[in-house]
Amino acid sequence: RIVMKFGGTSMAGTERIRRVANIVRKQAALKPDGTRDEVAVVVSAMAGETDRLVNFCREANALYDPAEYDVVVASGEQVTSGLLALTLQSLGCKARSWLGWQLPVHTIEAHAKARIEDIDSEALLESLGRGEIAVIPGFQGLSGDGRITTLGRGGSDTSAVAVAAAIGADRCDIYTDVDGVYTTDPRIVAKARKLKAVTYEEMLELASVGAKVLQTRSVGLAMKEGVRVQVLSSFVDDNATPADALPGTMIVSEEEMNELVEKGEMERQHVTGIAHDKNEAKIILTRVPDRPGAVANIFEPLAKASINVDMIIQNVGRDKGETDVTFTVPQADLARAQALLEDQRGNIGFNRIITDSKIAKISVVGVGMKSHAGVASNMFRALAERGINIQAITTSEIKVSVLIDEDETELAVRVLHTAYGLD
Ligand code: ADP
Ligand code: MG
Repeated sequence: RIVMKFGGTSMAGTERIRRVANIVRKQAALKPDGTRDEVAVVVSAMAGETDRLVNFCREANALYDPAEYDVVVASGEQVTSGLLALTLQSLGCKARSWLGWQLPVHTIEAHAKARIEDIDSEALLESLGRGEIAVIPGFQGLSGDGRITTLGRGGSDTSAVAVAAAIGADRCDIYTDVDGVYTTDPRIVAKARKLKAVTYEEMLELASVGAKVLQTRSVGLAMKEGVRVQVLSSFVDDNATPADALPGTMIVSEEEMNELVEKGEMERQHVTGIAHDKNEAKIILTRVPDRPGAVANIFEPLAKASINVDMIIQNVGRDKGETDVTFTVPQADLARAQALLEDQRGNIGFNRIITDSKIAKISVVGVGMKSHAGVASNMFRALAERGINIQAITTSEIKVSVLIDEDETELAVRVLHTAYGLD
């Protein structure tokens, strides 16, 4: 039993959908040993379509109702799932679509950012058992009050992993426009190398700091449910067999990774990958009184408004008894954060709010860091040698992130890629 997921670029137009249908047909075909894989396919909307639909909602009503927004933006996947089922039928395959509300895919009621709670798999399993290929639109679900919900951008990856978990699939293959997970975004660094395998933990960190090849939540779910995930390319020759499409990148447990290293199939690096994120903005509050509770007064209102604060640094201010507090928030939340802080000015007691959206976060990730010191200092040295200034730093057990000027993003990623021997 296999789940295959195809992203927006792979589904962009009937020509590409035909190529996808060919890949699916081969996966579902009779194998030499006389058996067949049961195949469920999860699809995204055509590339650009969801943006187009979001714009329609904005045009219709700037203060749109999220429930109706979901009705509109979920439609892109309805179109591609129907088209793929039609194309598969034209190739002689038995196939049918299953919309989110038909399975159903139960989610919480948080429109536009719903989470999957549970997928009813009974009817789906029966259909698969009859030899039908199931085509399921990603990104969409059904709330407890009977309305259509969507999962947030990149959500189809999570739909695919959730379907794989629900039907106990042997594997969840994520087909996209690159043939695997690379040491860094191959669109930025031509020398980026494809990784044969990456651990769940590393992939989770990479995704959460900007490697959008997989949605963060999908990796977390795969880790929790023990779903085997593989990333591979949908842009293969029509005559290729499923074996030709391999190898992509396998997401593996740390034990499996250790075995690969022992067998000499993987090299143990201190840094596995580098990611960048241009979607954060920096806020500096100057001359905040340096007393207990001052920082809580800043971050409590932001937390209540569900604004995620990422990096935080506190500098000694010009005057004794005052500090400057610098932190980052998602760019999309910057205006809201600024308004909330202005509201709390009396309570917090800062002097000025300075904001900057022209920043980027560069992160290096690797399980090798657990046992190797010096990764962070190498990063600071390599960036300093190229005159790249670091504005803030955060670390975790397997990650170091720095904040830099947005204009230096590409340079920084390239410099670090070379510095850690990943070229
Ligand atoms: P899909 O539409 O198939 O979901 P996405 O655009 O969401 O595809 O994700 C694939 C893209 O992720 C690639 O085109 C690539 O530019 C980007 N990407 C970022 N970091 C990486 C990485 N480390 N390895 C591979 N791709 C990456
Ligand atoms: Mg994606």
